[in-house]
Amino acid sequence: RGGAPEKEIPFAKPSSLTRVYAVASGKGGVGKSSVTVNLAAAMAEQGLRVGVVDADVYGFSVPRMLGVEQRPTQVDDMILPPIAHDVKVISIGMFVPGNQPVVWRGPMLHRALQQFLGDVFWGDLDVLLLDLPPGTGDIAISVAQLIPTAEILVVTTPQQAAAEVAERAGSIALQTHQRVAGVIENMSWLELPDGTRQEIFGSGGGRAVAESLTRSIGAPVELLGQIPLDTRLREGGDTGTPVVLGEPDSAAGVALRAIAKGL
Ligand code: ADP
Repeated sequence: RGGAPEKEIPFAKPSSLTRVYAVASGKGGVGKSSVTVNLAAAMAEQGLRVGVVDADVYGFSVPRMLGVEQRPTQVDDMILPPIAHDVKVISIGMFVPGNQPVVWRGPMLHRALQQFLGDVFWGDLDVLLLDLPPGTGDIAISVAQLIPTAEILVVTTPQQAAAEVAERAGSIALQTHQRVAGVIENMSWLELPDGTRQEIFGSGGGRAVAESLTRSIGAPVELLGQIPLDTRLREGGDTGTPVVLGEPDSAAGVALRAIAKGL
């Protein structure tokens, strides 16, 4: 785009009514993307206008989890995002050929994010969810710079080691002066056929992260909910129908819908 002037990011305007959530985790594989797409689908089902930016450059999985196969279309200098389950979706994976890994460095990622936010025609949104890469990387800083009002949602597992890295991801909010919207614990337990709960990854991680962030930030950070291990959640991600829509009464579906409602 050479020296083209940068478009204003509508969500960064003080008058913007869009709630922006940056979904963060300390490490990969804790279910951050699964949580993002399910919250998005559940909120869209509630009648909210929802967009998702998949900024997880190392593991873009949002399009598959939402069953999006189309690429964005371009009209004049506007990019129109594909829509799936009433959610507008844009992913870095839509701009790289085939299944190639993204090897961009910080400044290019910043520019890509800027375009996703400024050049994509989102229309009026009630909620925008950003799926961040795991850890406390450049993208998290870029989000804070581009949309200072973005709130951070921290996803962790119950495991102590995972909770410690999640705390670091959340405490970036201290430096960027962002609000932490809360902590979501995923993979909290597996319900056995006799109704008992097996805590495969231990317990207490979500609460520990919430308490620790409350102390370090100096403002209350809540544990928003616990999502059990559930085969149907994984299957929904694989088939492109989020569990909150495909199996809303499953254990994970119920937990995720409740969290979406509370946000
Ligand atoms: P992340 O975005 O943190 O890397 P993903 O959302 O890609 O994590 O989840 C990693 C894997 O775990 C995926 O295969 C996903 O389907 C599965 N998964 C996530 N949460 C659950 C859950 N509560 N129950 C069962 N499988 C889950």
